[in-house]
Amino acid sequence: MKKKFIIFIIFFCIISLTCVGILISISFSRSNGDSKNTPEATEQVTESATAPAAATATVPAAATTTSVPNQNFVANSSIPVLIYHCVDDNVFGLKDLFVSPKNFEAQMNYLKDNGYTPITFQDLGNLGNFTKPIIITLDDGYMDNFTEAYPILKKFNFKATIFVISGMLGKKDYLTIDQIKEMTDIINFQGHTITHPDLKKMQVQDINKLRDELSKSKSDIEAITGKPVNVLAYPAGSYSNGVISVAKEYYTFAVTTKPGIFKYGTDSNYEIKRLRVKSTTTLDLFIKNLDGLYSSK
Ligand SMILES: [Zn+2]
Repeated sequence: MKKKFIIFIIFFCIISLTCVGILISISFSRSNGDSKNTPEATEQVTESATAPAAATATVPAAATTTSVPNQNFVANSSIPVLIYHCVDDNVFGLKDLFVSPKNFEAQMNYLKDNGYTPITFQDLGNLGNFTKPIIITLDDGYMDNFTEAYPILKKFNFKATIFVISGMLGKKDYLTIDQIKEMTDIINFQGHTITHPDLKKMQVQDINKLRDELSKSKSDIEAITGKPVNVLAYPAGSYSNGVISVAKEYYTFAVTTKPGIFKYGTDSNYEIKRLRVKSTTTLDLFIKNLDGLYSSK
């Protein structure tokens, strides 16, 4: 009896210990499994939460900022302003100021073939109406602007702006009043002072003279064309903050000779950059200057 009882006790203990062992091992494996799974799960959750979030955050954001609005921005408000002086094969004075009529026509032809729309400063308020707007300017008002440039511009039906020195009208090599009147169908005439002085110096030396240069040239040209003169070209690109503050009394825009592309709405309207076209400007260089603006970069 005693022997049987002891065997039963031993057997019971073995069974119990085995059960306890099994239970412990199960609970261990479970707890191990949990502690292993949790970080993985959180990592996965974190990754899956961040990765698509990051993807959705970056991809559409990048798409919206680099393509859609920028294209609109570039197309609507970055405006190349070309600067010419003489369009003539007969060179007098500084050779750099001359572009041959042949080159001028090739450049205009490029603009036409590549969908540019020449506008004037008066069109800046309605930029949405124009595809690839560009402003063609000619400084000083030389007679070849009428004899050489105007027929080419007419052929393409291109608008352009001529900044005339009002005191030089009718003098040798400069436009006459009649020529100006004849060109007003496509040419917008704007101010380039009366005598082409250094405005930066004049602002320091004689501010009343500066006022006359800006205001009288404006009213004289308006009297000839019957159209508003609200754009000033600083002679030889010389200006200062003092000159700008006087210019603001009479003009809405002022152009410089600083190279670059005018960003309307971003750049100052009184420090408009321009792209100079010279006798040595090849068509390749002309295109490169413009391509800096309309590339997808
Ligand atoms: Zn000039």
